[in-house]
Amino acid sequence: MKNVVLLGSTGSIGTSTVKVADDLPDQVRLLALAAGNNSELLLEQTRRHKPAAISISEPAKAKELQNALGTAAQVFYGEEGLIKLATLPAADIVLIAIVGTAGLKPALAAIRAGKDIAVASKEILVMAGEIVMNEARKYGVRVLAVDSEHSAIFQCLDGKPSSSVRKLWLTASGGPFRDKTLWPKEKFSEITVERALKHPSWVMGRKVTLDSATLFNKGLEMIEARWLFDIEMARVGVVVHPQSIVHSMVEFVDGSLIAQLSTPDMCLPIQYALTYPDRAVSERVQTNFPKIGTLTFEEPDVERFPAIELARRAGEVGGTLPAVLNAANEIAVEAFVNRKINFPQITELVRRTMDAHKVVSHPTLEQILVADNWARRAAAV
Ligand code: MG
Repeated sequence: MKNVVLLGSTGSIGTSTVKVADDLPDQVRLLALAAGNNSELLLEQTRRHKPAAISISEPAKAKELQNALGTAAQVFYGEEGLIKLATLPAADIVLIAIVGTAGLKPALAAIRAGKDIAVASKEILVMAGEIVMNEARKYGVRVLAVDSEHSAIFQCLDGKPSSSVRKLWLTASGGPFRDKTLWPKEKFSEITVERALKHPSWVMGRKVTLDSATLFNKGLEMIEARWLFDIEMARVGVVVHPQSIVHSMVEFVDGSLIAQLSTPDMCLPIQYALTYPDRAVSERVQTNFPKIGTLTFEEPDVERFPAIELARRAGEVGGTLPAVLNAANEIAVEAFVNRKINFPQITELVRRTMDAHKVVSHPTLEQILVADNWARRAAAV
C-alpha cells in the first residue's frame, strides 16, 4: 500500500489520480489532498477517500471545510498547508499537480523530508530542474514522471544510464493546427481561443491545451526530459505523431528503439508512477491495434511552431532562461485568452522576453523566482 499525498486534487491530473485510487483500493491510499479553490469537489473527495489531512488555498474556505468535516480530517491552508501535507510522516510519495509555480516549494520540502515525488506540474523541472534533481540525489529519493511522454521514456529506459542512449524521442500530437494545408502560417493570426482549445486527442486543462496548440507544451517537456534523464538538449528530439499512441521512444546507442504504446489515458502514467516498480492490474486502458490501423510520424514544423526551437535554446543555455521562457509563456497565453494578442504573438512575446533576459547560471531557488517575476513583468501587455 502506497500512502499518496495529492497536491492539486481537483484539476485534470488530480481527478484522474483519484480515479486511479478508486481502481486500486488495495494499493493506493490517498493520505492527503490539496486543492486550489474548488472546495466543493475537495469536500466530496474527502468524504469518499477519507484522507487524514487536506488543504485549500484560502483560510476562510479551510474554516468552512473544517466545520463540515469535524474531526474527520485535519484542514490546512495556503503555501504552509501544501508544505505540511508534502512532509507528512506517513507519506510515501507526493504527487504534485498544481498549476503554476506553487508546486516548487512543496516539491523541495517533500524531497528534503525523504519522500519520492511524482511530478505533473511542468514548472518544477522546467524552472528548477537542476536544483530538484540535485536535491533528490542528495536525499536519495525518486523523481517520477506523471506526464505520458516522460513516463514512456522512463519505462523504455528501464534503468539504463544516459550513456547508453543515442536520443530520446518525445512524441507530439502536433496540436489542432498541425495540418499545413488547413492552417498555413498566414492563417495563424486568425486562430481564435475557442478553436485553440479543441485538442484532437487529449482532454486536458486549459493552459496545457493552449500550450499544445503552440507546441510550447512539447518545448517544456523537452526541458523536463533534459533534467529527469540527465541528458543534454542535443539528444532530446521531437517527432510529431498525431495518433498519440506511441507516448515516446528511446533510441539506444546500438540503433535499437524502444517505444511505449497505449490508447491515450492519463490514468496509465499516473498509476505507473504511484505503483512503481510494480505494475498493478487494471482494465481501464485497452488498446486495439486493428482498430487504430495506422500510426504516422512527421517532422515538427519549426517555422510555424517556433516554440520548439525557443525551448531548445532555453534548455541549452540553462540557468534562469527556462524559468523566463515558462513565465513569459504563461503571461502570453493569458493575454491570448483575454484577446489582447493574437496566436502567433504568444511565441513572439516569449522570444522577446528571452532575448531581453540576463541569464544567471546555476541559480539558487531565490534567483529563479526573481527571474520568474522579472519575466512576468517584462512580458506584460
Ligand atoms: Mg505530455
